[in-house]
Amino acid sequence: MVTHPCPTRRAAAARHLIELLEPLVSNESDQKEQQGRSNPHNHPYDHHIHGLIPAIKALLPTLHADRPLFAAFHDGQVHDPLGAGAYAFCNDLIGPLLLSLANDESPKGNEDMVRAITPATFPTRPIIVHAGAQPNNSPHAGTLVVFCYAFSLARALLARVQQANSQNAPGPKISVEITFVDTAPVENEGCQVDGVRFQRSHRDTPGALATHMADYSEVLRLLSAWSGIPFRTTFQADFFAHPAVPSLLAYLVDRRGRLGAQLSPKSHALALRAACPVPSCALAEKHGLLNQYAPGHISFYCPHHGYHGISLSQPDEVVRLEANAPARNLIRSMLHLLDQDTHHVRITGADYAGTYQEALLYRPLAEWSASTGLATGRTPHILYAPQVVDWSGAKLSKQLYVREGGYAAMELLGTDGLRSYARLKSRFGDEGLVRIWSEVEKWVADPRKLFRAGFSVEYMQAVLDAEGNGDGKGVVSSN
Ligand SMILES: [Zn+2]
Repeated sequence: MVTHPCPTRRAAAARHLIELLEPLVSNESDQKEQQGRSNPHNHPYDHHIHGLIPAIKALLPTLHADRPLFAAFHDGQVHDPLGAGAYAFCNDLIGPLLLSLANDESPKGNEDMVRAITPATFPTRPIIVHAGAQPNNSPHAGTLVVFCYAFSLARALLARVQQANSQNAPGPKISVEITFVDTAPVENEGCQVDGVRFQRSHRDTPGALATHMADYSEVLRLLSAWSGIPFRTTFQADFFAHPAVPSLLAYLVDRRGRLGAQLSPKSHALALRAACPVPSCALAEKHGLLNQYAPGHISFYCPHHGYHGISLSQPDEVVRLEANAPARNLIRSMLHLLDQDTHHVRITGADYAGTYQEALLYRPLAEWSASTGLATGRTPHILYAPQVVDWSGAKLSKQLYVREGGYAAMELLGTDGLRSYARLKSRFGDEGLVRIWSEVEKWVADPRKLFRAGFSVEYMQAVLDAEGNGDGKGVVSSN
């Protein structure tokens, strides 16, 4: 794929392109256009396009010696083909979601299930729409889409409920909750000893958490104001402070052999960790490989200060716990399923859909329910947000996870506003987030658009450039 530009090749490619462009600025193109109009099936500029595309493709990679650019072309048409989720939910996503929540309130057996959602059968318990983020970067477009989806879904649920309220039916309270994974590792703060990785998390590194929190706070405040939906933010200590957590941890610890292999296919260890309590140390063993377990007690290893432990019966010790994403996902889902007072709906990125949830969440949940008799017949309510993907279909990620300078071309291409909220603001002011919010609102109103793996960087850029509004200019919908 990589080409090696040389001045001779660049000059030849440029000359060829100029030759092709010249007729377009002379009378010749007008004459061809006139000729073309005599045949309705033959677009007058087709022959130009056939020549220009390979010429542009040939020239572009020669312009940047170190980091060649490649041209991609499209026709601006957006298709929303039906299939799977899009086929099932194309008419409405809100009604079916309310129906499934209503049935969680009426576990009377199949024959007594609510079959249609009407004002009389609306769920009555409060509904919390959840999303999460690791605050180790200014939120990029993918994270903003997830947040917009959460607030937009909450607003759509509220609108449906308010319709019912006009007929004097009671409606549930609806809010958004954003959980910050402040136990994510800080780059270059960890170490490796004898092949075992130790990390220092954001909450234990002075200043690390504050770096990007202002961006998150601003985004959430704006989305809450635009949607009219209240929100709250929580951190990992809030999560582990839940009164049901110790008993769930006891279950995980008891089954750690089986669950370790299920939740951590690479290490086969239950990835629970706690930071070393020695002030200024705070190292935590990332994968829980060296943990020692005794009934009601977990010991964690620090490479500098040896073992330290927590007792599962001591809430102030349990809040020191951290878990990797699959273990967190499982414990959180268990908590949500056990909650008889509140409904929980989670929005997460489409990369979590499919095998990840089936292997790392639903299978362990089914085994837990079968062996404990808890949350019988219940499953989590999770909706997946389309990702923002690059030309190859890879998701737009944090700078952290792509090789050094991996997104440098986005600046050159003018798409770097999608890389972070900070850049989005510097390029578009407040209008950038307004446009992403308006776009995601359209997806919620037309759920076909929600059941796809992703939208391309180029599509999202057209949204930012206000070309993606179906107004007949630029990117248009063909449906
Ligand atoms: Zn230590």
